[in-house]
Amino acid sequence: MTALLEVGDLSKSFGGVQALSGCSFTVDDGAIAGLIGPNGSGKTTAFNVITGYERADGGRVLLRGREVTGSGPDRVCALGIGRTFQITRVFGRLTLLENLRVGSAGVPRARRRELYGDRRCLELLDSVGLASLAHATAGALSYGQRKLLELVLVLAQEPRIILLDEPAGGINPTLVNQLGGYIRELNKQGVTFLVVEHDMEFVMGLCDVISVMERGAVIAHGAPEQIRTDPRVLDAYLGGALDEGEPS
Ligand code: ADP
Ligand code: MG
Repeated sequence: MTALLEVGDLSKSFGGVQALSGCSFTVDDGAIAGLIGPNGSGKTTAFNVITGYERADGGRVLLRGREVTGSGPDRVCALGIGRTFQITRVFGRLTLLENLRVGSAGVPRARRRELYGDRRCLELLDSVGLASLAHATAGALSYGQRKLLELVLVLAQEPRIILLDEPAGGINPTLVNQLGGYIRELNKQGVTFLVVEHDMEFVMGLCDVISVMERGAVIAHGAPEQIRTDPRVLDAYLGGALDEGEPS
């Protein structure tokens, strides 16, 4: 496998808080990679820097060897890095299809029909089990379904890699299971994922490989089985917390 996303030595401070400090990791093309770590370890800041919502103080981000560092959110998205947010951003009064069409506004006219035609939009909604709700307003969706819609809005842009920030947070266990299935299926179709998630059972079951952050840097990287038993990781979580959400 080759590296799709390379994050090298990122640093970022907010006043006196060093949110990222020598943060480095890579995501292989075709992977479902996880990024975990205690609260405040810098996961969301890493996502913000990678996707151009925050400017790093130092370090670089490469996508397929191409410099992404310093690009704004629109440019990063056009280069092929999509993301969802911890808090969903869909329009409640618009239907699901209309929400998709809002996203087409910035797309060149020539590609608009190809990317946002009815048929493709319905296929996209179908890929997360929402096709039957295409004409319902987004406000009628459950919180979890809104998160799935947000994933669809990102998918529509045909990203090479999608960064998901706590996709399972606040959604019911049945939908969490389905979400895992959708991510796996989309991955088979060629989408690479980088997932930040607190639900350890979910992240360990879903990801091929996991990077662990502590105080702004990646302290361990490996397969879920390795990560589970890595003393540095257990230390970072002060023991115990890694088992959160596990059936006992
Ligand atoms: P995580 O997502 O792993 O919980 P964050 O990246 O949100 O961690 O936060 C890392 C650290 O940076 C925390 O100490 C947090 O309080 C701080 N931080 C994040 N964003 C900001 C900001 N915009 N202004 C000030 N401090 C911030
Ligand atoms: Mg966060």
